[in-house]
Amino acid sequence: MIVTTGQLFEVAYGEFAIGAYNINNAEQTMGLFQGCVDSQAPFIIQISKGARAYTDKRLLEAMIRAAAEIFPGVVFAVHLDHGDEETCYDCIDSGFYSGVMIDASHEEFRKNIAITKRVVERAHAVGISVEAELGMLGGVEEKVTGDNPCLTNPDEAERFVRETNCDSLACAIGTSHGAFKFTGGQGIHFDLLEEIRNRLPRGFPLVMHGSSSVPKDEVARINAAGGNLKGASGVDVNQYLPAAKRGVTKINIDTDGRLVWTRVHREHLTANPDEIDFRKPGKVFIAEYAAFIASRNELLGSAGQVDTVRKHVTAN
Ligand SMILES: [Zn+2]
Repeated sequence: MIVTTGQLFEVAYGEFAIGAYNINNAEQTMGLFQGCVDSQAPFIIQISKGARAYTDKRLLEAMIRAAAEIFPGVVFAVHLDHGDEETCYDCIDSGFYSGVMIDASHEEFRKNIAITKRVVERAHAVGISVEAELGMLGGVEEKVTGDNPCLTNPDEAERFVRETNCDSLACAIGTSHGAFKFTGGQGIHFDLLEEIRNRLPRGFPLVMHGSSSVPKDEVARINAAGGNLKGASGVDVNQYLPAAKRGVTKINIDTDGRLVWTRVHREHLTANPDEIDFRKPGKVFIAEYAAFIASRNELLGSAGQVDTVRKHVTAN
């Protein structure tokens, strides 16, 4: 069952967060659906511009539709991650996406408002939810580079939401993209998060990007199997729920999934130097990724919520 991100947020707000996971290929798709079935969690599938180019947007759509048949009972939204205006319109017109993110956060404030407003008008005309971004995250996500990260200004957030009519807002509150998030004792700025929440309409959903935890043991295993990820670090997973209680309803986790992929393949190929069957490590990856997704859904509080969401959506 495909729902909008807005429908998921109505149930989650103030209680738990919905995990937003990127997919690029069949193995990730299988692992994601299996993990969400195992943990009985609603979820958001994120498709980036890079994924749409890598696997082809038509193949991604076909895989997701097939996965929804293979794993009946799942409840999810299909969401464009970090879209530009043109890609947003393509997704809105596709009839397949139930949410888009317009990321014009690199533009000047007024221009960000103007672009976001245009996308919101087109999306709302066909019942699609829009996530926008204000402030600049650090780190790298595909071509989105935060060279000069700056935190979201609560005054601007209030004005931005009022003028654009967007449905959710990605804020820069201390997290960053990629595997090298923090150099010192940084983390989520809960005071800033609360201030932004207090300025916005009651129940307005906030989004946290760059929220992977970059587990130390995972990085150590990758490095032991020939990797070179020195000084990688991420968000404390014990901060997910406190953030959710303060209005964060969508938490994006991508880097950690890449680490699972890297660890499984490095270890498998190192232990089996004569291996040429990609299905062998692929099978291990699907199972490990499913277990990883289920563990994240537990931490986000979304595990066990699928029935509640389904009932809410069918009743409204
Ligand atoms: Zn992001």
